Amino acid sequence: MLRVFQSILLIILVPAMLLANDPQDSVDTAMHLDDQKSSKKKNAWRKLGQSTLIYAPDDFSIQEPEQMTFKLEGVRMDVYSRDFAQGDVVYLEILRPAGVHGFYSYLYDKDGNQLPLTRTAWGYRILLPIGAQDKREKIELLWKQSVADRFGKARIEIPINEKSFPQTRWYNRVGQFLPEIAPRMAGGEESDPSPEAAESPDPPGGSGTENRENLSAVQPAPGKEPSSESGSDTGPAHDSQSALDSADSEIQETAEEREKREQKEKQALEEEKSEEQLSNFMKKITLEKSLRSQVFERKGNDLITSRLSHPRDMHYVTSQCFTSRVKVSYRYENGRRVEVGRRVVMHNGVDLRGRPGTPIYSIADGQVVLARSMHFEGNFTIIDHGLGIFSGYMHQSNLRVQVGQYVRAGERIGDVGNTGYSTGPHLHLSLWIRGVPVDPISLYSLPIRD
Ligand SMILES: [Zn+2]
Repeated sequence: MLRVFQSILLIILVPAMLLANDPQDSVDTAMHLDDQKSSKKKNAWRKLGQSTLIYAPDDFSIQEPEQMTFKLEGVRMDVYSRDFAQGDVVYLEILRPAGVHGFYSYLYDKDGNQLPLTRTAWGYRILLPIGAQDKREKIELLWKQSVADRFGKARIEIPINEKSFPQTRWYNRVGQFLPEIAPRMAGGEESDPSPEAAESPDPPGGSGTENRENLSAVQPAPGKEPSSESGSDTGPAHDSQSALDSADSEIQETAEEREKREQKEKQALEEEKSEEQLSNFMKKITLEKSLRSQVFERKGNDLITSRLSHPRDMHYVTSQCFTSRVKVSYRYENGRRVEVGRRVVMHNGVDLRGRPGTPIYSIADGQVVLARSMHFEGNFTIIDHGLGIFSGYMHQSNLRVQVGQYVRAGERIGDVGNTGYSTGPHLHLSLWIRGVPVDPISLYSLPIRD
């Protein structure tokens, strides 16, 4: 009995201790110093609704949310969203009626899965995603509650506004190998809502994230210069076997033949080397893929508070969230450009301009669960905000946090850069809610309360 009591105490105490050893004041001071050093523009805490504070640059205008209200036997549910449109985050509150003992609320999705409500002093809250590809006309929820031994339930319908996203076309010249591997690992298909579909690689060679209609430079395979003619769709082309055969044979050869043979042997060696490089590359990609999926499997406690932050000290969007990118692969045949395939890849995040070295702030309180260099994302940080909510910050020039560290909204976590698959210095910010990518900017319309 005593043991049970102790473990209950522990469960209650641990989150309280985490909060206690992180005084907000010192964080604020640090942030303002950072701003003065690296930018003329200054972020400030701005109020949204009754008690939400958003640390945002002065050129960012906060869009007031749309609101819907539902009632069940006198209990009120308020639902907020920027537009209740595809790609938006939805914030839902259930308000505890005054002076009632024993108030419990439960929420289920259309398939009967219970949704993770956070219980607060004033009731319950939850963030819900509307996927960019969500074809539903409405969010259907089942709301059950008990208020002082009276049970009630209601079906909630929240209409989804259809939104169209712009489409851009990217051209990618197919190298000798990699044509299948790289984009699929990084980008995921249009219909893939998994967090693995993090960032699709930007074509190298452009001068910025806007420069997409131009033909971009050839995507080089690792350790190998792309050859101009003999492209292959199926993988590396090999002549090495015939070269090895001739090396083993015992025929008399002329000096010229010998020179030819040695050249072939050298070529075969080089190809073996690049095969080794390819295999190392594949190992790295596989490792990074598993790191990503491990991170997204985490089920951390809800750490989000009434304080949110813009990730930058200026608001300049160079590529909107959910712009679909039509990636056209081509190669040259007899001097003519021939299309060899096209895929539609969704841009699951927002690109924000910034000079290299300018600050990146955590968008909400959370725990750093990944902070490392990755092939596609460059220097990449993922912050776990709890209950399946993660934010991701890509292409950084410098990481300023470590895995395991707790960060506050508005705390500087890194610097803008141009690492990984990126066409110029910018921050790619992603936000995932239980596996569904949403537009991070839509978070700043939500009057989230502690
Ligand atoms: Zn991006």
